[in-house]
Amino acid sequence: MNSSASPVATLGHYIAGAVRQAGDARTSDVFNPATGAVTGKVTLATQADVDAGVAAAAKAFPAWSATAPLRRARILMRFRELLETNRDELARLITQEHGKVLSDAAGEVTRGIEIVEFAMGAPHLLAGSHSDNIGGGIDNWNLRQPLGVVAGITPFNFPVMVPMWMFPMALACGNTFVLKPSERDPSPSLLVAELLKKAGLPDGVFNVLQGDKLAVDGLLAHPDVQALSFVGSTPIAEYIYSEGTRRGKRVQALGGAKNHMVIMPDADIDQAVDALIGAAYGSAGERCMAISVAVVVGDIADSLVEKVAAKAKKLIIRNGTDPAAEMGPVVTAIHKARIEGYIEAGVKQGARLVVDGRGMSVPGCEKGFFIGGTLFDKVTPEMTIYKEEIFGPVLSVVRVPDFASALELINAHEFGNGVACFTRDGQTAREFSRRVQVGMVGINVPIPVPMAWHSFGGWKRSLFGDTHAYGMEGVRFYTRYKSIMQRWPDSTSKGPEFMMPTAQ
Ligand code: NAD
Repeated sequence: MNSSASPVATLGHYIAGAVRQAGDARTSDVFNPATGAVTGKVTLATQADVDAGVAAAAKAFPAWSATAPLRRARILMRFRELLETNRDELARLITQEHGKVLSDAAGEVTRGIEIVEFAMGAPHLLAGSHSDNIGGGIDNWNLRQPLGVVAGITPFNFPVMVPMWMFPMALACGNTFVLKPSERDPSPSLLVAELLKKAGLPDGVFNVLQGDKLAVDGLLAHPDVQALSFVGSTPIAEYIYSEGTRRGKRVQALGGAKNHMVIMPDADIDQAVDALIGAAYGSAGERCMAISVAVVVGDIADSLVEKVAAKAKKLIIRNGTDPAAEMGPVVTAIHKARIEGYIEAGVKQGARLVVDGRGMSVPGCEKGFFIGGTLFDKVTPEMTIYKEEIFGPVLSVVRVPDFASALELINAHEFGNGVACFTRDGQTAREFSRRVQVGMVGINVPIPVPMAWHSFGGWKRSLFGDTHAYGMEGVRFYTRYKSIMQRWPDSTSKGPEFMMPTAQ
């Protein structure tokens, strides 16, 4: 709850084409993580707000679902242009509330635009298949029809890109959408809603409901919400999957991660070190595809740890608005304390703390939520810092004797989001990608986030549900399959038929 005395803007919902403020609403503080200042208050939805958001989407559904896919695609095309022209403003808002550096924030917008570009192919994506004359003068074809009102619940770490994994696909397929973004960085979604309206999207087709658990529970319980897409931590993903499916809703719930990068002795070590630095410390480690475990095979560990440590110490850590910054702060003071707690646990449980990022101060940003790049060596699978997702700039090195032990280690972990293997050997690369129990695999690619037309998703406790996000998996998630058989018989009736129909 807000305790600041200074007047700051209150960020409201976006329902039926207009910002909706609730005068006496519950609110939560929004921070600039680089300065620690409260920059706004976000309204937290009540049940009445949830009902209003869902009602707006339900009202808009009949006309939107009946709009030709090509016309829906044209609105997305205009939206895409507006995203390009507003890229800097979106990036500025992301950096202001999330903390990541501006270039990274702009990159996030680009990855979102790519999904819009894929969704612009709606007429083709929704085309069914047709079988002429399956027998007896009957033709058989299939349709993919929209579900109705669908909801998206998204995490703080990609306030533009992750919602765009969902709503461009949902809208292209003819659904209407209620987005519940993270309460920690709520502003970008409001700008996105405005841009959609400017692009010509009818009111009510896309709505933003700000809020916390109460809003999420309201969406889960609402009988008019047909499907929920969730991205966030594993305990909440599991909760949403079980509560949603229990009520007969379609759910895809993407959860947390502990991504490993294997470095084989034959790898280009300098390349691997650079990849580790970017993938472990980029966005202060607050990426679901961040590498948080380096699995070093054979006798290269000493030299690799030394090189990573040297570069981790030299990271340029500043306010994300500084063009020279390589890493910004973490999202909140609470999250910072949580990460520091993990570092403490690592030390207590016997890991070797090679670089300690605690206690760092950035000139001019003394109240910001900064932690420096942190490196642990000789981490073992029983340690908390190995088992749990830290979601901060903390890299653990686990030493293993050979390829088989590296694979066994990764496959035994409860998460299976992303993984990488650095090697120069084709056979190792092939075996690794075939045998690893992880949803997204990079060979000499540290962060293998699939392109818009290849779907995104992890395995094991990194994803609950049957479909991955966006791409053709997104089309399948946001549509119902219907098969139609049609005959135009001649006027001479043969009378009723009681036998199972077969091809004649
Ligand atoms: P979070 O789980 O705390 O929050 C995600 C969303 O759930 C937010 O909108 C939040 O308001 C809501 N929420 C929080 N607590 C809730 C509760 N008790 N009941 C109902 N709803 C609740 O996650 P976060 O801290 O915002 O994001 C970081 C997490 O997201 C990390 O675990 C990260 O790995 C994960 N993530 C996963 C992916 C992926 O693709 N698998 C992508 C991005 C982030």
